[in-house]
Amino acid sequence: MKSAKLLPLSHWIAFIVVGFYPLYSGDDMEYWPWIVAVAVMAVLGTVYHVTRRSRSSVNPGMWGITLLGLDAILVCFLIYYSGGIASPFYPLLFLLCATASLYDHWTNALSMASVVSAGYIAACIGADMVLAEDGARLLINVVILLGASVILSYLAELDRREHSKAERVEALYQLSSTLMEKVDLKETLHNLLSSTASFFHADVSSVRLLDRKSGILVLEASGAPADELDEQIDISVGEGFIGWVAEEKRPILVSDVLEDPRFADFPQARKKVRSALAAPIMVGGELMGVLSFASTQPRNFSSEDLQMLVTISSLAASLIARSELYQMVLSRSEVIVGSMSSGLLVTDSAGKVVMANQASRDLLGLESMPRDKSLRELLEPTLLDTEALWGFLEGELAPATEHSHTHLEVHLRGTPERILSVSASPIRAGYEPHSGSVVILEDITERVKVDEIRDDLMLLIARRVEEQTALYEVGKSLVDEVETHDLLEFLLDKAVDLVDAELGVLSLREEEGIYRIKAVHGVDAGNLGLSYRHGEYLPGEAAVQGPLRRVEIDPANATRWGEGLGYRVSYLVAPITWQGVTKGVIEVASPASARAFGEDELRLLGLFVNQAAIALENSNLYRLITEDQRRTEAMLHSINDGVIAVNNDAQVILVNAAAERILDLPPFGETEKRHVKEVIRIQNLANIFLRSLNTSRELGEEIQLEPPDRRLLEVETSLIETSPGERIGIIAVIRDITALRELEQAKSDFVSTVSHELRTPLTSIKAYTATLRRPDVEFDEKTRQDFLQVIEEETDRLTRLVADILDVSRIESGRLTLKKRDFDLAKLVRIIIGKLQSQFPNHEIKLVSPESMGPVRADPDKIEQVFSNLVDNAAKYSPSGGEIVLTLEAQPRKVECSVADSGVGVPAEHLPHIFEKFHRVDNRATREIYGTGLGLFVSKSIVEAHGGTIWAESVFGEGSTFRFTLPFSSRVDGGDAERSPLLEGRGGEAGD
Ligand code: ADP
Repeated sequence: MKSAKLLPLSHWIAFIVVGFYPLYSGDDMEYWPWIVAVAVMAVLGTVYHVTRRSRSSVNPGMWGITLLGLDAILVCFLIYYSGGIASPFYPLLFLLCATASLYDHWTNALSMASVVSAGYIAACIGADMVLAEDGARLLINVVILLGASVILSYLAELDRREHSKAERVEALYQLSSTLMEKVDLKETLHNLLSSTASFFHADVSSVRLLDRKSGILVLEASGAPADELDEQIDISVGEGFIGWVAEEKRPILVSDVLEDPRFADFPQARKKVRSALAAPIMVGGELMGVLSFASTQPRNFSSEDLQMLVTISSLAASLIARSELYQMVLSRSEVIVGSMSSGLLVTDSAGKVVMANQASRDLLGLESMPRDKSLRELLEPTLLDTEALWGFLEGELAPATEHSHTHLEVHLRGTPERILSVSASPIRAGYEPHSGSVVILEDITERVKVDEIRDDLMLLIARRVEEQTALYEVGKSLVDEVETHDLLEFLLDKAVDLVDAELGVLSLREEEGIYRIKAVHGVDAGNLGLSYRHGEYLPGEAAVQGPLRRVEIDPANATRWGEGLGYRVSYLVAPITWQGVTKGVIEVASPASARAFGEDELRLLGLFVNQAAIALENSNLYRLITEDQRRTEAMLHSINDGVIAVNNDAQVILVNAAAERILDLPPFGETEKRHVKEVIRIQNLANIFLRSLNTSRELGEEIQLEPPDRRLLEVETSLIETSPGERIGIIAVIRDITALRELEQAKSDFVSTVSHELRTPLTSIKAYTATLRRPDVEFDEKTRQDFLQVIEEETDRLTRLVADILDVSRIESGRLTLKKRDFDLAKLVRIIIGKLQSQFPNHEIKLVSPESMGPVRADPDKIEQVFSNLVDNAAKYSPSGGEIVLTLEAQPRKVECSVADSGVGVPAEHLPHIFEKFHRVDNRATREIYGTGLGLFVSKSIVEAHGGTIWAESVFGEGSTFRFTLPFSSRVDGGDAERSPLLEGRGGEAGD
């Protein structure tokens, strides 16, 4: 019932109408019923209002209807006294009945109208109404009264229904929006129940949620009075009407639970509940719980009620779903928020802090979660610069602000001072313009400090990098410059450029304590070569104590080259030191009027001189290395030992000239980087390289080359190591020791030969002498002469031998002296033949010579020695005897002499060597023939000392011809030589 205001209104209308009755009644009216009626009505009206005001528990509808009922009785009373059917008060009855009908069910309205009609009829009849006359009128009045009541009551009911529907919808709408504001599920559901129970005139209401594990519908919220809560037991699915709904998943309306057979066997159904409505709460097709409303009175529910119930249940479903989601988000965000190292404050739409995580409480020094405090109240006591903060927060949290991740730095009160970073963002939920905010607090004290330090550092580094870049450029070019002679000038130019000076001078330290100017820039070149001492002038001082700076000085006093300048300068000087030793000094200057050097320039120059020192040192080093390298190369190429180096991959990396010669290799350009096996064709030799590489050991071996080479090579390998254990290759020294070996062999042969050669004649001399001296034997003259001849011959042999040995020693020591003179060679040869023939009785010695031949200029004794040797050999090496032909053949400017035999001959391979010292052919043919291997060597030396040449021609086994030349005397020509006493000999054969 929406409003009961019409009820008292009708009462007072009736009161006024009755009150004004005397004005239009006429004389027949008795006043006392009127007075009674007016008084009673006034009293009733007053009581009604007083009661309503003082006792709110009184149902205004019922009381109002009662009031109108009493009014109707009074009106009937007045009708009786005012003429019955003719009374003017009948409309008042109509008014009262119609008004009351608006507020009650049509049945009640009809009953009331019937009672009033009965009173009306009684009043009319009591007032002497004639039924025959006025019966019809009475009937009409009564029917109108009854009909109007019923119709009005019905219309009012219709209107009420419409009205209540709209009301419910509106209520629901408002409810849902208010419910959505809260997040606590129990509370929200409780609110839902209490605001909707009245829709169904329900006394009891509940929301039960299904516990999926146990299948029990657990009470989540209840609209029952507190004292009834304990009666609300757990209900299983299927039990009672709530359990039925859960099982069937559809709503139910029960007018009388007790009468319903479906719930008869549910013993625990509360007796109080008579009628009930219940609906399942479904989320996404799944049962979450049951919503129920119940009344202690039996009631018939309408389809609207059912609709309403379903709507409310879906509202409950959305609340539950939202709550679950919220719980999920909350539990997640709780973990996140709890573990956040940053402080987090959350405010609601009213600006109250609803959440503060542990980190934020630690930062703000709060012991517990703040209750009911605004952000301002919370932050103000702990922060210093709050005004700026509020300004910032207002800006950030303004509805129009786009979230932009800005933050503000504020200081915390207390020492040591800490700095907080504050950032804030509004929470925008759905279409709510502002449903709170999130404020993040971070302690950035350390970070700010680190940032400050980093900024300083960055600045410093930036400047250094700038300088370093300049220095690096300088350094880079310096290294490239090491080879040029302009290094010093280059360094000076760079120094001048670096500090943007105009003048510059570079001096180098020469011997102890003297510095000499080596390069100038912008300064008169006449200063080059000037010197000053350690400690003298500013550069000398700087050499002792390090870089110096003068903002303005008279250059004449400051430096050696400053005299002619004639203006004051700003001046810098820095010593170039390397490993503690001052190597030189760089000075730079600019006219003081143009430039004043600061500490920065001095430092820059200081840094530069380090680079300069390195450059100078590099240059020195480079020169040393280059020299060293060249020396090594020169050495390598001039030594007679072959040197070959290979890298770890056995590729040839170095071959010297001797190696090329010994091994007959192509030029190094063609062998470089090729595998040693490809380069060195001698397998054994190449293998030594590989073995040495593989074993990483130094090897020493001798290699006998295959015939016909026959050479003997000595190879020694060494590892090339940059540092111990770090091998980059191996190097081998290769020596041709063939000659050496042969010499050694020859020497030892010589010793045995000489001892043999000495012993043989000595033995015979001793034997013959001893024989001659025997006292017991008388020798005849002939025998004695023979004996003495043998002794003489053996002595000659000894003498020759000794002479040979002495000659060798003279030749080797360069003491071979020639007593040259012009003589007739043929004559000499004939004399020699005469001497020798007797010694070789088995051989026939012949001379072939031109008839006349000019004299030769030579030492006749030495030439005799040569002939003796050759003839001696010819006889020796033709053991079976034969002819020995001596030939003299005049040629232009020289005479060619030869001694030919038909003896054993010389093997071809020995021919080039037989003139070598101690060289002897050792074969079957010569084994029994003793000799020293000196004769040919001495002969060769003598011939060559005369300016001639000697050589041999031989066919092994057939004989040999030894030839040599001697120059004619320069005074005569070979053809018509001037005769001298010695040159008597004629050409022809020399006989015995
Ligand atoms: P030796 O004292 O051994 O004769 P030489 O210097 O005179 O020393 O000769 C050197 C070598 O030359 C001899 O050992 C010999 O083998 C060889 N030789 C020299 N002359 C002749 C020759 N006429 N016929 C064959 N072989 C010769």
